[in-house]
Amino acid sequence: MSGLLWCVKHNCSITGSGNKIRRYYVCESLRRHGRKESDCPSIKKEALEHFILDLLKQKIFTLERISDGFKYLISTKQTEETNTQNELASLKARIAKLMKEIDGLNQGMIDSGLYPQSTMKLVAEREIEISELKKQLSDIKENKSHTVFNFSGNEEKTVRDIQQQIYGILDNESPDNQRGFLRYYIDKIKISGDSMDIYFKFHDSPDNSQELVAGVGFEPTTFGL
Ligand SMILES: [Zn+2]
Repeated sequence: MSGLLWCVKHNCSITGSGNKIRRYYVCESLRRHGRKESDCPSIKKEALEHFILDLLKQKIFTLERISDGFKYLISTKQTEETNTQNELASLKARIAKLMKEIDGLNQGMIDSGLYPQSTMKLVAEREIEISELKKQLSDIKENKSHTVFNFSGNEEKTVRDIQQQIYGILDNESPDNQRGFLRYYIDKIKISGDSMDIYFKFHDSPDNSQELVAGVGFEPTTFGL
């Protein structure tokens, strides 16, 4: 969990250390300045990781929070979809207007029998703009086909399935995959040297500025070396 763990007391990262037999996390301040300057404890790697993974399951990836995130995702996608439809409609309306103007200009020239450069230029300008707008239209349609998002299932069941998948990752995945997962959802896990409070900060959530106090009660005898 190096890269996620943060020492609040010294405002620095907490990183993994040790060998195959004895692995632990240590605050960068302690690593640099030694025991005389820094009183941060070394923390047993397995014990801390187990503690944090358990907290994530119990307090972070709750059905309620997953459901909120899921609803947020759907409403975001729906807003995107509405915006895309509005954009398409306005591009089409603009094209229709330009084509009507071209028709009018052409008809005027035919009726008068005169084909002045200035009017020809107005027609040409509109034709160029139409081809640019058509390019934009096809770009949006192509892009849209990659991101289309439809949900018409049982929301409650889907949320439970997502939770089971997350639990599966937290319980069984390789450390590398777990790290990828945690880095995606969590900004920092802040550990305060004395009180050992842990905070989680989410990247993506409806209230992504919120910091959550998710764990208190570190037992030094369990986690210390
Ligand atoms: Zn520290």
